[in-house]
Amino acid sequence: MKFTFVTLFPNLIEPYFQDSILKKAVEANFLSYEFYNPRDFTLNKHKKVDSAMIGGGAGMLLFCQPLFDCLNEIKIKNPEAYIVFPLAAAKPFRQNDAKRLSNKKHIVFVSGRYEGIDERVIEKYANEVFSIGEYVLTGGELPSLVMADAIARNVDEVLGNEASLEVESYENNLLEAPSFAKPENFENLLVVKEYLKGNHSRICDLKFQMSVYRTKYYRPNKEKR
Ligand code: SAM
Repeated sequence: MKFTFVTLFPNLIEPYFQDSILKKAVEANFLSYEFYNPRDFTLNKHKKVDSAMIGGGAGMLLFCQPLFDCLNEIKIKNPEAYIVFPLAAAKPFRQNDAKRLSNKKHIVFVSGRYEGIDERVIEKYANEVFSIGEYVLTGGELPSLVMADAIARNVDEVLGNEASLEVESYENNLLEAPSFAKPENFENLLVVKEYLKGNHSRICDLKFQMSVYRTKYYRPNKEKR
C-alpha cells in the first residue's frame, strides 16, 4: 500500500511514519509514503497557493492551478491512484471505509488549508471525500493521517497479529468490551472476576453482553444512522 500526501506542510505528517507500527511497516515494505507540495507547482513568482474567495467571505482558498498541475502529475505517474479529500462538510469516515480502502494499492490524500480548497479541484479529482468528525480543524493533515493510520492497520501484515482486528470496536456494529491488563489487583482496583476463571466460552459470552451494553450506552442512536 502506498500513500501520497498532497500538503503544504509535509513536516506535520512525516514524524508519524518514523516511529512505532507504521515505521516498522515501512521498513518491512508493507507500506510506503511520499509527499507532493502544491507550492512546487505554482506558476506565480511569489509561489502563492491561496487567493480571495469569489463572491466574498472571510479568509483565503487554495486556488485551482497548483492543485490541478500537482494532481495531474500524480495521475499521470500513477493512473490507478485513488484520490481522497478530507472535507469538514463531507460524510463521516468510518471503520468500514478504513477496511474497504485497505484493499486499494495507492491512496492520495489532498489536505486543504486556510478556508479550504476551490470546489472545482474536488469535483474534478476526488474519488471520495470524508469528514473525520463534526468539528473544524486548521488543515487536512491530521484528517489525512487519521485516515491513513486507520486504513494501514487493516493492510495485511501491518499489525502482525490480524486476530487483534477481529474483536475490536465497530466490528459487527458493536463497541469493544472493557479490557484489563495484569496485575489483577492494582491499588485495590479489581478486574471483572469472571475473566480470571479461565472459562473461555463464559468470558466470550460476557464480553459480548458488555459490548452490547456499552454500545447502547455510548451510541444510543446507532440503529437510526
Ligand atoms: N471552511 C471549511 C468549512 O467550513 O467546512 C473549513 C476549512 S478547514 C479550516 C481547512 C481544511 O482542513 C479543509 O479543507 C479540510 O482539508 C480540513 N478539515 C478541517 N476539518 C476537517 C474535518 N472535520 N474532517 C476532514 N477534514 C477537515
